Amino acid sequence: MTVLVFLDPQFPAGRLADATVPQLSVLDQGVTRGDGIFESALYKGAVVRKLEAHLARLAVSADTCDLTLPETAAWRAAIATAVSAYDAAAPSEEAVVKLVATRGAEGAQAGTCWVTVSPGPALGRAQREAGLSVLLLDRGYDSAVAERAPWLLMGAKTLSYAVNMAALRHAHANGADDVIFISSDDIVLEGPTSTVLLAIREGETKRLLTPTLETGILPGTTQGAIFAAAKAAGWELGYGPLAPIDLMDADSVWLVSSIRLLAPINSIDGTPIARDPELHAELTAMVDAIA
Ligand code: PLP
Repeated sequence: MTVLVFLDPQFPAGRLADATVPQLSVLDQGVTRGDGIFESALYKGAVVRKLEAHLARLAVSADTCDLTLPETAAWRAAIATAVSAYDAAAPSEEAVVKLVATRGAEGAQAGTCWVTVSPGPALGRAQREAGLSVLLLDRGYDSAVAERAPWLLMGAKTLSYAVNMAALRHAHANGADDVIFISSDDIVLEGPTSTVLLAIREGETKRLLTPTLETGILPGTTQGAIFAAAKAAGWELGYGPLAPIDLMDADSVWLVSSIRLLAPINSIDGTPIARDPELHAELTAMVDAIA
């Protein structure tokens, strides 16, 4: 079951609504144009994980898209209302808290903003154990596009995820679990719903690498939290540019995201890659400790 709470100036704690019946105007530009932004956070053990980071990224996405958001306090209040209604109605071990803000109906004074809480997908949990096969797919632009074309809203978490979902369907139709996007100049970008991490051992030194944000990828909150924990544990950190060969040569590669957490990659384009169980256990412990 899904709990739905709209942000509404007349209801300071948010307005509970029925998620099983239609609630949005067909004129809302979030629907007609995919013009809006969102966040997905993990709710586990009575905590919305990395809430500060999600609220901060929502604000950056809004800024990038010229959207005016309600005050952060209104989001916090709506989230609190939503998770307590969820706990009362249908508690589950893991749930997804989704924050959505659209541009609203054409000509409207304000956008439409809501919070949902839904049971976490079982697939995410399964992938943490078994690992993934991925395909490298062309994202169709080069790694310098973000600076050249700010109107592409690179780095914002917009509602326009149809391409990301199409890439995942393409992978599934071709027998793979997931995707790593590659730029037209052969630079590693991100997954359709995840950030890429790779680890390299050099003697006693452990290095953790992720693609540079200059490529226009989404700044991952999970990657940020893992990097902070890894730094505290003495790992060296690095930020791309990374090439596909760096993935093939790494000691371990993962896809990370708020809901899936940390999923190791078993193969890329059908070629098995290395997996280091010790590094995986160490990073998994860091991920489990993220609050
Ligand atoms: N990159 C993209 C395109 C995503 O959609 C996501 C999450 O959904 C991520 C990266 C990972 O971000 P986070 O770790 O904040 O969930």
